Formats: sequence, structure tokens, C-alpha cells
Amino acid sequence: MTKIDEDEARRHRIKMAKRKAVQDAEVAGKTIAEKGLLIVNTGPGKGKTTAAFGLALRMLGHGRRVGVVQFVKGAWHTGEKDAFAAFGDRVAWHTMGEGFTWETQDIGRDIAAAEAAWAKAVELMGDPSIGLVVLDELNIALRYDYLDLGKVVDALKQRRGDLHIVVTGRNAKPRLIEAADLVTEMGAVKHHFTAGVKAQKGIEF
Ligand code: ATP
Ligand code: MG
Repeated sequence: MTKIDEDEARRHRIKMAKRKAVQDAEVAGKTIAEKGLLIVNTGPGKGKTTAAFGLALRMLGHGRRVGVVQFVKGAWHTGEKDAFAAFGDRVAWHTMGEGFTWETQDIGRDIAAAEAAWAKAVELMGDPSIGLVVLDELNIALRYDYLDLGKVVDALKQRRGDLHIVVTGRNAKPRLIEAADLVTEMGAVKHHFTAGVKAQKGIEF
């Protein structure tokens, strides 16, 4: 073990006391006790959807129900879908998308799917037993103008005061970013796909 002399311990105590004072002052400055947050996970790096499900888990831990709408149906059956199924009706899970636009190649079908998904989202947002709604890949539906941006942003802004909403997907629209309380941009520093590694079970799906 490293030996710490008296002097060093005293300097550390003073430094930490100062830091605590700064921290306490910062906490005292926060006056809004509770607020339903509009959260956006965007950017080119990995982790947008998985971070949203991390919040879902956190909310479930507090005994609140969670709603999930997936706007783009992925190619794979995902592990998280089965894992959340174990929570029974505490999770309302709806995969509504038709797959990526370059896979369906049918714009009419994509728009109809996006509208059906949005209708489900509105329904979940109106359910008072739900504490968090995850709108996975809603940004993709907005990017391709499958949904009316103004209508969607207005509805998200008018959420219940105690409802948290997470929107995921690359290329979040500036208007959505402006309306949000918390926006995280995932940066792609390095990704194994570039090195030719296929999607891994438990990591990608
Ligand atoms: P995840 O679902 O793993 O949290 P994500 O939601 O951030 O990922 P999406 O844009 O939804 O990312 O893409 C879904 C898939 O694409 C995931 O399997 C992910 O591993 C992969 N992916 C994400 N970022 C990159 C990247 N920068 N390069 C290549 N593939 C990526
Ligand atoms: Mg995603």
C-alpha cells in the first residue's frame, strides 16, 4: 500500500472540502424537483438504442411501467425484446416498423407503418401508468418525412408533466433537439464492422 504522510492527507482534506462546497452550491441551485424529460439519443456511434433500454430497466426498477415503440423493424430478433418480455405487462412493447426503407422499397407501406407506430406512441404517452416511453428510431421516420415533424414535436412537448420520453436514431432533426431537455450525441470513435466483424449476438441484437 502507498504510504500517505500527514501533510498530504491534510492537503487532500482541504481540497475535498472545497470540492464539496462547490458541489453543494450546485445542487442547491437546482430548484425543479420533478420534470418529465424529453431525451434524444442521436449521432453516428453505437449505443443509442441500448442506452434507451438502460433507462427502461432503471424505470422498471422503480416500479413504473415502460412503453416501447420500434419505428424501424430490424433484421434480427433482438435479445432485449425477449428479456423485457419477462416483465410481462409492465412493459408495453410494439414493433411497428416495416424494416429499413431500402429493404421494403415501398414508400406507401413505410409511411403507413410510421403512422401506425406514431398512433401507438400517442396511445402509450396517454397512459398514466407508464413512466417512460422509448420511441426507438423515431428519428429515422422523421428524417425521411414519413411523419409530420411539427405534429410530432408538438405532441412530444405536450407530454404529461411526469412522463419521460426517449427518442433514438441518427440525424435527429434540429427542431426536435431544440424541444428536448437532454440530448446525447454518440460519437463513432471505432466500430468492429469496419474491421469486417459481423453483428454479434448480445451486442448488436
Ligand atoms: P445499439 O442498438 O447497438 O445501441 P444504435 O441504436 O446506436 O445501436 P443504430 O443506428 O440503431 O445504432 O444501428 C443499429 C446497428 O448498427 C447496431 O447493430 C450497431 O452495432 C450498428 N452500428 C451502430 N453504429 C455503427 C457504426 N458507427 N458503424 C457500424 N455499425 C454501427
Ligand atoms: Mg438504434
